[in-house]
Amino acid sequence: MSPIGTSEVWQVALARWAEIARNIPDLEPALALQQRVLRILLEAAHQLDRDAPEALPVSSDVVLGKWVRGVPAFRNETVAIPSSLKETLPALCGALADGGAGDAARHIGDALARREIDAGSMLRVSFARNEKAIRTSALHMGLSPDLVWLIGELASSPLAHNLQRGLLARDDLARELKTWDRGYCPCCASWPALIEAVNGSRALRCSFCAASWELTSARCVYCGNAGDDFVVAAPDVSRGTRRIELCGACGSYTKVIESAVLTPFPLLAIEDLASVDLDQGAMTREYGRPKLVDLDGIEPLSSVSGGCA
Ligand SMILES: [Zn+2]
Ligand SMILES: [Zn+2]
Repeated sequence: MSPIGTSEVWQVALARWAEIARNIPDLEPALALQQRVLRILLEAAHQLDRDAPEALPVSSDVVLGKWVRGVPAFRNETVAIPSSLKETLPALCGALADGGAGDAARHIGDALARREIDAGSMLRVSFARNEKAIRTSALHMGLSPDLVWLIGELASSPLAHNLQRGLLARDDLARELKTWDRGYCPCCASWPALIEAVNGSRALRCSFCAASWELTSARCVYCGNAGDDFVVAAPDVSRGTRRIELCGACGSYTKVIESAVLTPFPLLAIEDLASVDLDQGAMTREYGRPKLVDLDGIEPLSSVSGGCA
């Protein structure tokens, strides 16, 4: 058995999947696909730990300067893409193809194998969260934009997590993280997948790099609204430890889940899936989740974050 199969994080994941499958049998196909995908991501993360990729070549002063302007640390930084990460792309295409995406995922795998898509560029553009470039390239090649975006996001997430961990482990940045009072991630600009309420604190958990940070006040993660039309609801009153925050100003919602500890990368995806009833509760009230934050007004993406063909 590989080291992942016996690792603590994998055992935790297996136990959670078994529990969720018992409680919500309908989720079983989704859980099976997630198990295969997270195994690939954990192997990739493990390999990155072994290879110890270069830290983000950016000084803390530069990051702090960005944070003052509302610019996340990774924005417009050039990263080296480890070759081991490129190998996860065909594996993810295969998992998604078998898990229901079928030919749409196989075609992306074929385009990678034929080098019509450059794996390194795809990972670089995904890491840069340049959704527009990914979608344009995918459409140009007759591939599913949503699926190319998803595969690139999954495959680049172990690197984003690795670099985020290294960055926020710096003493000066760890200290100044509390000055980041915005709803999008201080490292990668993604919105939180959910908020984990741990011991009275409210940790926003990045959906991409798994960073944790807090807002200084209770308000809408997306637009900052704290008025009367920002409300907290528990769709299932018998389970008040799981809530949704609904914002009447921007029409968006955030899930809040009480937890004993912060969920480690990449297991946040499990909690996200296990709380799909909260998403449904919000969506039946016609609330949604916004697209990626548009930072072009603060700092446009440079050409290094361009296309993937
Ligand atoms: Zn992030
Ligand atoms: Zn809002």
